[in-house]
Amino acid sequence: MLRAPDNQAIALAEALRDLKTRMRFCEICFNITETSPCVVCQSEGRSRKMICVVEEPLDVLAIERTRQFTGLYHVLHGAISPMEGIGPDDLKIRELVARAAEGTVEEIILATNPSLEGENTAAFIHKKLAPYQVRVTRLAHGLPVGGDLEYADEITLIRALEGRREI
Ligand SMILES: [Zn+2]
Repeated sequence: MLRAPDNQAIALAEALRDLKTRMRFCEICFNITETSPCVVCQSEGRSRKMICVVEEPLDVLAIERTRQFTGLYHVLHGAISPMEGIGPDDLKIRELVARAAEGTVEEIILATNPSLEGENTAAFIHKKLAPYQVRVTRLAHGLPVGGDLEYADEITLIRALEGRREI
């Protein structure tokens, strides 16, 4: 970077600045997007009856790669972690409950990571969704324990989606 010509460094800085000003969170699913609502939330072809809940925007990309999921998403932006001082209010959980309360959604798939934090987050959300008429499912095994959703291969993710179960 230091050895690069000035104009290259400036071009890179400008590209980053443009990216930063263009990118925002979708007002519905909280994925990173240039337009809000995002393309997925706006798409006529996506089922409004299913919401797949993930920890990070990259997890949305991982599930989109499988081409098996035709519903909508909800990005939590993390997982509950008392060790790191992250509580439910730091995540987009309230917003998810509000979407469930609207009554259109029939199934919510909790696709948080198969880690301690991810499991705890799924359990917490499951409890919060109890008052609503919505089926709550969790991704099946097939995902490596302690792994990250974004690094899972497509076959593993497809199996995990197919084998999701009631919790
Ligand atoms: Zn969206």
